[in-house]
Amino acid sequence: EPVEVKTTENSSKPEIGVTGRKIIYGKDGKPCRSCNSLLDFQFATAGMTKGAPVVPNVPSPKIKENQAVAAKKEKYNPYAKDIPPDVEVLGKSSWTLLHAIAATYPETPDDKKQRDMKQFLKLFGNFYPCWFCAEDFTRFMAKNEPKVETQDSLGRWLCDAHNEVNAKLGKPKFDCNLWKRRWKDGWEE
Ligand code: FAD
Repeated sequence: EPVEVKTTENSSKPEIGVTGRKIIYGKDGKPCRSCNSLLDFQFATAGMTKGAPVVPNVPSPKIKENQAVAAKKEKYNPYAKDIPPDVEVLGKSSWTLLHAIAATYPETPDDKKQRDMKQFLKLFGNFYPCWFCAEDFTRFMAKNEPKVETQDSLGRWLCDAHNEVNAKLGKPKFDCNLWKRRWKDGWEE
C-alpha cells in the first residue's frame, strides 16, 4: 500500500515520520536527533540530503521494513518483567543522558548557562542513586572542575569523568577526540 507522506511547504522536510509520529526539527531547521526515533530521524535526514529526490509518496522497501519494525514497537507493555535498575543499567542510562546533554549544550554558552550546568552536575552528584558511584563522581568534580565554557570542553570533561570510572572498572579508555561522533554527529557523518 502506498503511504502518503505529509510534508511542509518545503517539500524536502517531511512533517510525519515513518513511525507515524510528527518529525521534530531543531532550531537550526535540521531534524533533531534526540527528539525523534532513529527511524524517523534517518527518514527526515534522507529527505533533506542535497540533491536527494523529494520524499517519495510510494515507500521504498526499506521504509516498509521500518514501518513493520515500528508497528512491533507499538506493542508496548509497561507491566512487562522490567525491574528496578542495577548499577549497570543505571550507569549506561545515566552516561547516555549526560553525554547527550553535552551534545545539545550550546557551543558558546552564556554565563547563566555555564552556572546552571555546574549546578546541574553538582546536584546530579548529590542525587545519583548509587551512593559510592556518586561519592567518586563528586570527588572527581572537586579535583577536576567541570569545564563548562564550551560544548566541546564539557563533552571532553564528561569523557574524562567517564574514563575515570572505566579505569576503575578495568575497562579500556575511550578516545575523547571521538566524543562528538559517539554522542552528537554519529559515525557516518
Ligand atoms: P558504559 O560505561 O555505561 O558506557 C556506555 C557507552 O558510552 C559505551 O558503550 C561507549 O560507547 C560510551 N563510552 C564509554 N566510555 C566513554 C567515555 N569516556 N566518554 C564518552 N563515551 C564513552 N559502576 C561501578 O561499578 N562503579 C562505580 O563507581 C561507578 N560509578 C559511576 C559513576 C557515574 C557518574 C555513572 C554515570 C556511572 C557509574 N558506574 C559505576 C556505572 C559504569 O560507569 C557503567 O555505566 C556500567 O558499568 C555499565 O557499563 P557499560 O559497559 O554498559 O558502558
